[in-house]
This record gives sequence, structure tokens and C-alpha cells, in this order.
Amino acid sequence: MPAKVVVVGSLNMDLVTRAERLPRGGETLIGKSFATVPGGKGANQAVAAARLGAQVSMVGCVGDDAYGEQLRGALLAEAIDYQAVSVIEGSSGVALIVVDDSSQNAIVIVAGANAQLAPEVVAGFDAILQAADVIICQLEVPYSTVGYALKRGRELGKTVILNPAPASGPLPADWYASIDYLIPNESEASALSGLPVNSRESAEAAASQLIAAGAGKVIVTLGAQGSLFADGARFDYFPAPKVEAIDTTAAGDTFVGAFAAALAAGKSEAEAISFGQVAAALSVTRAGAQPSIPTLSDVQAFSPS
Ligand code: ADP
Repeated sequence: MPAKVVVVGSLNMDLVTRAERLPRGGETLIGKSFATVPGGKGANQAVAAARLGAQVSMVGCVGDDAYGEQLRGALLAEAIDYQAVSVIEGSSGVALIVVDDSSQNAIVIVAGANAQLAPEVVAGFDAILQAADVIICQLEVPYSTVGYALKRGRELGKTVILNPAPASGPLPADWYASIDYLIPNESEASALSGLPVNSRESAEAAASQLIAAGAGKVIVTLGAQGSLFADGARFDYFPAPKVEAIDTTAAGDTFVGAFAAALAAGKSEAEAISFGQVAAALSVTRAGAQPSIPTLSDVQAFSPS
């Protein structure tokens, strides 16, 4: 049986428009292209874990609109179990994205159905949490639900991962004791710790503070620099494979999903981090979010240049 990863999190339909430049307030621009692409940090991480060898179940909510149908269809296409993705009245989560010719973007996210993923909904799927080896959460669903899932995961003795994205400030203090692996990027590490994070030393200081707050281990992802692992006793740096970056969308999601899949499969932490870094590096060589996430054979075929 493949190892089991459960993602409690968001599903969004990304509505991606390309235009020469971003519109100003009150302005109407003629765009160049439009596409709907399944996304949301939860779903992206679920897809990454599934493509990279785990058996994945997703717990979340979509609306009773056409996007909800398509978002569930996208999970089905990856053989992700979506029996715990509830269809509720109203609109699905959406991200309105405009990308300009210099790859700058402007994004508005509307939580829609994701806001309806209440703790009671997750509690109703406890059998799915019980069957997990690893549970992953992010912050695109209500905090009360994230707190519930982290604590229930800890109670059940599961490996619990929190990717604190998007983060705008400190986490509730009582979450930390339930987190085995806290995986922020630099700006999230800064928001959580209240410290600037823009160098190795500052990333180490932030990681140390998050461990002092009670997180088991912290992995700060450092973009093209790779990642920093901290467990309170030591720091380890994992350099990222050198690749030609085309689009870094979903790099963090690919790292988290890949790391979880490898850990669930019994790999050591160091192996799981290296595996995650190769998967994330491959994702930045391709455009888009879910379309850019590599498969296990892509990762196995990768040899650094
Ligand atoms: P996020 O996408 O959440 O902002 P990061 O930018 O820190 O997160 O990227 C997450 C991981 O993706 C990094 O730790 C690294 O492994 C990989 N990565 C990101 N950008 C690059 C890049 N330009 N080259 C190689 N790997 C990258």
C-alpha cells in the first residue's frame, strides 16, 4: 500500500488573464489570453503528493457551481480521493490573476466555499484522518479548522505538517505543540516570527524562535537558495538544484507535497528535503501551478546540470 497523505485545505479555480500590463483603477484593458486552472494551496499540495507517489485524500469544500465540479474532476484525474471534498451551496474559491508581460502579477483571492470548511466538517471525516500517515494544512481555510486539524492529527499520533501560507502575522500560540514540521518561506517566516528574514543568519534566528514557540522542526524555504532545516539542535542547508526558472508559481506547494510524500514513504528527513527540492526545482522550469508539478518519474530522471 502506498503511504497515505491527507491534505486539509483549500481548492480554488485560478482565472488567469494575460495582458501587456496590469490595469490601473477604473481602467479597462484588452487582455491577450484567459485560462481557468485548478489551484489553491491545499489542492496543489495534494496533487504534488499524489504525482510523487503517495495515496492522497483531500478534505475541503467546493461550491455547487461549474468550478466546483471541475475542481473535484481535477482531483479525480490525479487519483486523489475526494469523498471528503464537500459540495456546498454558493461559489467555489477563486483566484483572479492578471499577469503582465514582465511576469508581474496582481491577484485577488475570494475564499468562497473554502470559508465553509468548519472544524465540524473535518470532524465528520475523522476516519480519513485516522487512516493518514502524514497530515498537511495551510492557511487558506478558517483558522479554527486549521487549529482543529493540527490538534486532531497530533492526538492521533500522525506526522503533522503546517505550511503557514499565506501568513499575515503570528500563529495562535497553542498550535505550535501540534506541529511536527513547520514549512514557511522567507516572508512567512518573517510574518510568524516578527523578525526580518533576508539572510542566512536572520532565517536561522526566525527558525529558532519558531522552535522555541513549540514547533518540532522548521524548514524555511529560500527560493533559488534552497532551504534551511532547523530542529533546535542544528541547522542544515539544502542548496536548490540549479535550473532555468520560467515560473515559480507553486514551487512552495510542490516542495511541501513532495516532502510529505517522501516522509510518508519512510524516507529520512534529509532525503525527503532533497527530494522536495528536486521536485520544486522541476516545477519552476514549467509554467503554471498544477500543470508544472512533476511526477515521480520526472524526479527520478532529473540529473543536475
Ligand atoms: P514559495 O513558492 O512558497 O514562495 P520558495 O520560493 O521558497 O517558496 O520556493 C520553495 C522551494 O522551491 C525552494 O526551497 C526550492 O527548493 C525551490 N525553488 C524555488 N525557486 C527556485 C529556483 N529559482 N531554482 C531552483 N529551485 C527553486
